Amino acid sequence: MYKICSRCLMDTSAIDIKFDINGNCNFCTDFLETSNSIKNNNKHKNLNKFIDKVKNHGKNLEYDCIVGISGGVDSAWALKKAVESGLRPLVVHFDNGWNTNMSQNNIYKLLKKLNVNLVTYVVDWMEYKDVMKSFFKSNVVDIELIYDNALMKINYSLAKKFKVKYILAGTNRATEGMRMPNNWNWFKYDKKNIHSIQKKYGNKKIKSLPTIGTFDYIYYSKFKKIKWINFLDYFDYNKNLAMDELSLFSNFTKYKLKHSESIFTRFYQCHILPKKFKIDKRKVHLSNLVITNQMTREEGLNILKNEPYFSFDDYIRDKNYFLKKMDFSEEYFNKYLNEHPVNHDKYSSEKKIWEILEFLYNKIFKKKK
Ligand SMILES: [Zn+2]
Repeated sequence: MYKICSRCLMDTSAIDIKFDINGNCNFCTDFLETSNSIKNNNKHKNLNKFIDKVKNHGKNLEYDCIVGISGGVDSAWALKKAVESGLRPLVVHFDNGWNTNMSQNNIYKLLKKLNVNLVTYVVDWMEYKDVMKSFFKSNVVDIELIYDNALMKINYSLAKKFKVKYILAGTNRATEGMRMPNNWNWFKYDKKNIHSIQKKYGNKKIKSLPTIGTFDYIYYSKFKKIKWINFLDYFDYNKNLAMDELSLFSNFTKYKLKHSESIFTRFYQCHILPKKFKIDKRKVHLSNLVITNQMTREEGLNILKNEPYFSFDDYIRDKNYFLKKMDFSEEYFNKYLNEHPVNHDKYSSEKKIWEILEFLYNKIFKKKK
């Protein structure tokens, strides 16, 4: 039976939603707990302490941190703050072939102004496209797993190469930390899943696509002690103000739609997820805003009544671009949209082993405390 949370916008399209007696869901309840604990910390003091730690560790190194940049406002602002704090970052950008011109330009304008070094990892497009095609054939939900997984691997391996211990990400849990429902994406350190789907459906062997698995993650984080930092948690982050600041600073082009840095991500979130998987990620994004009082629940509900794309023209333009770039016919793509989704764990996966290790790890460390 359909039910929506009485405090946020999450509903029963999330498989693991639970409601308390007041009709509030577990997603916003958990989020409020995390968000309050971050807010109650003294951010300014913590930031200075953190910056000192990063500087101190990296004082004899070429760089003291890695900052990944996507072309979106969050990571761009994080980079600006890192440089303003006196850090010496190596900037990393992963180009999977779907970046918008606007986001590429935004990156170049910002980097020029900040005078920092950039490493761009450009993917072998034919190989990447073949893996993407395999994900379409497999009917799994998380097509972005390919990108997210590769991005983490690139960041970790560069950190290792330059002996850097800190990867600063343009993510924050204070205002955007509501977790995704279990059926809306997949476990991201699942190298095995990617390789298994590619083995079954692909025409090419994975040769150059970076992938990271559970044991690689343990190696980087526990043995090499490389830390992935939600850097925006150290600030009172407000996306609109950040965009204004960047636009003044480096003539950053403003945009309205989330994920306007990648045409695929936009098409995936605004069309493929809602149409094929009945998933509307705006519910999480807008709930974040509602819970942090940046928007009323009514405003959020009204936005959800509209299609995710602002206009039909935007949708048509992205769809044509997507079909052409993927060599998909309209007919093939429509057939895909109508096929039943398949669970990621129908293919080999590392999720179980991750869960076991996580359980053991928590057990050991809870005992110690
Ligand atoms: Zn809720």
